[in-house]
Amino acid sequence: RYAALAQPGKIGSLELPHRILMGSMHMGLEHDDDEQMARLCEFYRERALGGAALIITGGACMLPEGGGHMFVLTNPRHVARLAELPKAVHEVGGRIALQLYHAGRYAFSEEIGQQAVAPSPLPSRLTRETPREMTLEDIRRTIEGYANAARTAKEIGFDAIEIMGSEGYLLNQFLSPLTNHRTDEYGGDFARRMRLPIEVVEAVRQAVGPAYPIIFRMSGLDCMPGSTTPEETIQFAQALEKAGVDALNVGIGWHESAVPTVQQVVPRGGFAAVAAFVRQHVTIPVLAANRLNVPEVANELVADGFLDFIAPARPWLADAEFAKKILEGDRDGLNVCIACNQSCLDHTLVKPYRVVSCLVNPRAGYEALVPRRKASVKRRVAVVGGGPAGLEAARAAAERGHEVTLFERDKELGGQFRLASRIPGKDEFLETIRYYEVMLERLGVAVTMQTEPSLDQLAEFDDVIVAAGVKPRAPGLPGEDLPHVVSYQDLLMGRVQPKKRIVILGAGGIGCDVAVFLGTRRRMAPEAEAYFREQGLPVPEPIERSITMLARSDRIGRGIGRSTKWVVRQEMQRLGVHVVPNVVMREITPEGVRIERDGREELVPADQVVLCTGQESQDVGWTAKLPDRVRVHIVGGAKDSRDINAARAIREAWMAANEI
Ligand code: SF4
Repeated sequence: RYAALAQPGKIGSLELPHRILMGSMHMGLEHDDDEQMARLCEFYRERALGGAALIITGGACMLPEGGGHMFVLTNPRHVARLAELPKAVHEVGGRIALQLYHAGRYAFSEEIGQQAVAPSPLPSRLTRETPREMTLEDIRRTIEGYANAARTAKEIGFDAIEIMGSEGYLLNQFLSPLTNHRTDEYGGDFARRMRLPIEVVEAVRQAVGPAYPIIFRMSGLDCMPGSTTPEETIQFAQALEKAGVDALNVGIGWHESAVPTVQQVVPRGGFAAVAAFVRQHVTIPVLAANRLNVPEVANELVADGFLDFIAPARPWLADAEFAKKILEGDRDGLNVCIACNQSCLDHTLVKPYRVVSCLVNPRAGYEALVPRRKASVKRRVAVVGGGPAGLEAARAAAERGHEVTLFERDKELGGQFRLASRIPGKDEFLETIRYYEVMLERLGVAVTMQTEPSLDQLAEFDDVIVAAGVKPRAPGLPGEDLPHVVSYQDLLMGRVQPKKRIVILGAGGIGCDVAVFLGTRRRMAPEAEAYFREQGLPVPEPIERSITMLARSDRIGRGIGRSTKWVVRQEMQRLGVHVVPNVVMREITPEGVRIERDGREELVPADQVVLCTGQESQDVGWTAKLPDRVRVHIVGGAKDSRDINAARAIREAWMAANEI
């Protein structure tokens, strides 16, 4: 079905059975520690079994100053640990490449135990530190470091290496006039700015010999005003090819850039044209990722000559059998990465760092700790609630061989995910609901819709998993029962229509979602607007609607992960949402909301007030009336509504199902 992706391919001398690679990602398990290594090996082994044509590991530093919390190839103990990875992957017939990494000015001094190094001593917005300018001796050591690291990678069994030179890391920093202000032979015009990466490749090629595959991850687009131009990018790609690179992996955007590159707002395959531009100017294969999460898009891009291989990372967290399912044509059974970043990127961006996993696949990163195994005794399991947690509980319990019945009181499955899917740019959530519906059917789960089970019904089961979720919390304000006060649920589900002058109470994740939902609904859909313009039709003016968000503090978007919060806030600003922080809410009146701010009382006028003032657990007191022999497992928001998010709810559901 996906014939272009199914074609065999080659990177240098490395024959690959098809075009679906697994891109590099840091798992937070890269430690000299038996348990963490066992987890990392099992994580990769399952992806090899899941059909990855080639796995590219998370970065390993070639020198200690390259980055913290990673393996360093000058450390013999780390090298011994790294050697376990190709062994694990080769045992199941897979292939694996080691990524060689140096963060340069993106390294945190407290993590590397010294001041970071960079082409020039310019402050980094990411670390809020100023690096030290590399001396010519540093540069020589770095080139040698790459060569030694590549030789080591080959010796310990990796099938290839990838040199990390995009996303604003060290080699990318040398290329860009923004970060390279040197006046010696490694700075100045473009030929001198690209000198270090090219010398690195030449040294690596010499170290590993002519046949060993080298992939270079280059930046196709820095998304930084004033950085490398498209002409320079092409010049660089061609120079890399000439220096001995076998394939180019085209990355997008720096970590400091203000352009979203991996969030849900980025259309699927949205940056593939950049890779295609590079591909037109070289003869070696080109790889790319960035929102290549579904086969229909990826296949078309390969078929149309935009790319030779796809090398996404996150989709492999969401589904360990990403390639296998695509090659077997099982699109329905694919657990699609929804680009939420909540359990992956956000775990690596915010300290304390946490092990990377996946919101829609809580098993990711935990494969060695929770092996797939059937339950020794088949039990009758009831799941109460068909939101994300209930769906995962039912799926996981049925996968373990239990007889499962799911009760949902609504007429559709999906709960909070269904609500979220109504927010513009968040329709990826429907993929998760589809995945669970398919899995529940395949696993023979009995789904009973529009039913709240009675105690007598539930008493028939051995185990009851309660995933009843949360309900909106009333703010406890006078006037909250007035007719123009509505819940976010009614608004998002279209049960009430938005009015003209709207005040949103609450500025957490849901408040922000509602603001984007309302702001976007002021005007035509972008595709419709583009069509109108193409046809020369007059584009209707946006509906006049004022949206004011009242926040108790200045923490707007609390609960949204770091990788996504700035995008949401940017979007709210673009949509003209007026945010009023640090207010004390006093009362809702027919005219609006009375608040106190800076010691003064004022009325914020509104003809509709939307409550986004938090959530509380659904009542689960009834579980105490079940007979003692029924084991009750309460998970997710029903267990504890404080700071509840889908990642925690789904993880708890998965764990509960694994304990039965
Ligand atoms: Fe994708 Fe979200 Fe899973 Fe990360 S946590 S892999 S973004 S679905």
